[in-house]
Amino acid sequence: MSAPSSNELLGYLDTQGLIDFTQRLVRIPSVNDPATGSTEMGAAHAVIELAEGFGWTPIVDEVRQGRPNVIIQLRGSTPGPHLIFEGHTDVVSEGSRDLWDFDPYSGDIVDGRLLGRGSADMKGGLAAMLFAARALQLSGELVGTLTLAALIDEEELMLGVKDFVAKGYCNEAIGAIVCEPEAGEICITQKGAIRLEVRLHGRISHGAMPTKGINPIPALMKVLTFAHETEIELQREYGEDPLLGAISITPTVLQAGSRVQLNVTPSVAIADFDLRTTPLVDHARLIDAFIAEVGRIAEATGCRGEVEVIDDRPPTDISPDADLVRSLTAAHRRVVGAEPTYGGVPGTTDGTILHRDAHLPVVVYGPGGKWIAHQANEFVEVTEVIAAAKVYLLAARELLHEGP
Ligand SMILES: [Zn+2]
Repeated sequence: MSAPSSNELLGYLDTQGLIDFTQRLVRIPSVNDPATGSTEMGAAHAVIELAEGFGWTPIVDEVRQGRPNVIIQLRGSTPGPHLIFEGHTDVVSEGSRDLWDFDPYSGDIVDGRLLGRGSADMKGGLAAMLFAARALQLSGELVGTLTLAALIDEEELMLGVKDFVAKGYCNEAIGAIVCEPEAGEICITQKGAIRLEVRLHGRISHGAMPTKGINPIPALMKVLTFAHETEIELQREYGEDPLLGAISITPTVLQAGSRVQLNVTPSVAIADFDLRTTPLVDHARLIDAFIAEVGRIAEATGCRGEVEVIDDRPPTDISPDADLVRSLTAAHRRVVGAEPTYGGVPGTTDGTILHRDAHLPVVVYGPGGKWIAHQANEFVEVTEVIAAAKVYLLAARELLHEGP
């Protein structure tokens, strides 16, 4: 029997099932919110049920209580490479319902758009990768190993993907396709992110006798100035990345003192920083520079300084000539009938952890607008979900058949 043509292969894709399942996922609010007890559990269960319906044996790893990763490993008829498709089951909160023109968990399709929180980020992409894998299996074209990862906590600390890598699921993989919404762009680079908290401890005093204590607020101002000057310096040194734009260092949280006692200098002043980098930036050097400067400022002001690295996600990039990119390019051309646009991910995805902890090449490609994620009135075009599943299907066949 000869291998099926691309069109024959695409015939195995259950497009109606794909859209029904996307709707089902969107109708399950899977915000992780300890205050309400909401978790990814419902969405994870929907994935488990679908997988079992396909005759697959999903692995359920409870990363935190009530918050399971769902992992499916499909093995083909003959040995071959190992490819990973990655998605997440959590969604961000819908925020104020007043901002929405429809029920945030509607899942309805209106004028070709599937509506609701998580439709683009990223239940459409998650459903697309699962149905693409099913089609590949049904066609008899599955060789090697295909790992499908539906992980928790992407929107926060990425606990799901960290656990996924730590448990060895990425071993010997040739790379990962991260199915986040990028408007059909093939994203070959992603910004890195560092989250730092700087704490300066002084000594409390009466506002009328400030010299009797050590006020940490002026010291913290020096740290803010340093951060701003460092941002300008890095922007000057590295310029703008053509796909990612400029490096940024943004203070996002300030805490010191209390409005209840305006006549007291605080004992501690805290600033949090969100640093976004491009592949040229050395994270370790940047973090060291912060630690050294906070040390100098603390010493000069009599404070005690602390720098906590809350998270450190490196930027990623991959050559346009890499197999992952070439296969997606060919598949995109075939399905969409046009040349793809190559792009960069302005935020960070689980892909940064796959790259950092498992050293995998990653590419980000998925249905839904880049900028619609996390906004009110989120939607995904039904045609984009179907197109993404087709592209995943063709690309996966090529990657698994090519060999490493
Ligand atoms: Zn996402």
